[in-house]
Amino acid sequence: MIKENLLKIKTSLPNHVTLVAVSKTKPISAIEEAYEAGQRIFGENRAQELKEKAESLPKDIEWHMIGHLQRNKVKYIAPYVTLIHGVDSERLLDQINKEAEKACRKIPVLIQVHIAEESSKFGFSIEEVKAFFKNFDSDEYPNTEVVGMMGMATFTDDNQQIAREFASLRKVFDWVNENTSFNLSILSMGMSGDYEIAITQGSSMIRIGSSIFGSRN
Ligand SMILES: *Cc1c(COP(=O)(O)O)cnc(C)c1O
Repeated sequence: MIKENLLKIKTSLPNHVTLVAVSKTKPISAIEEAYEAGQRIFGENRAQELKEKAESLPKDIEWHMIGHLQRNKVKYIAPYVTLIHGVDSERLLDQINKEAEKACRKIPVLIQVHIAEESSKFGFSIEEVKAFFKNFDSDEYPNTEVVGMMGMATFTDDNQQIAREFASLRKVFDWVNENTSFNLSILSMGMSGDYEIAITQGSSMIRIGSSIFGSRN
């Protein structure tokens, strides 16, 4: 089923939207099946799991870290990760920069913005993220590259609310590109339940797990 699920989603996507297959908790065999169907970008949310999978699977896979990342775990993924989606503080960015330097790499990252109306979790507020980009000094982080933003909508069946939340992220993304020297290219928003709405609101990267691999335990 993995192959069929993957191809069905892929053929429905506009060309400018990149699919990250979220393989967290899933076995190597499931990733191999998706790989054989042509998928090369996989998302994980646990550092050690990403490291183990990266070491045992083909080297042309791009590994994305998608969930909350603790600073003391960055060292596990620094040699392998091709994009970190959830950078939610300057302290974390600083740690990524240090570990990237040790690994002789420059690691691309996305800044996570808290857009859900429900109070929760991780990410810069809209106001904080504007200040972050306005004041950003790239000389402080020579081994990272900020290439975009990521956000998660509220888990709800109110589609208008989801659209509104994604639109707020799109708006601040455009604001950064218009008002700072950044030229951000990646807007990561949308998961299995809401990616179609995310795409209507300008997403360029979706992170899909259960619709490809089936539900997780
Ligand atoms: C698990 C996860 C996903 C994928 O969720 P599905 O609903 O299974 O598609 C996407 N993004 C993040 C940050 C996740 O942790």
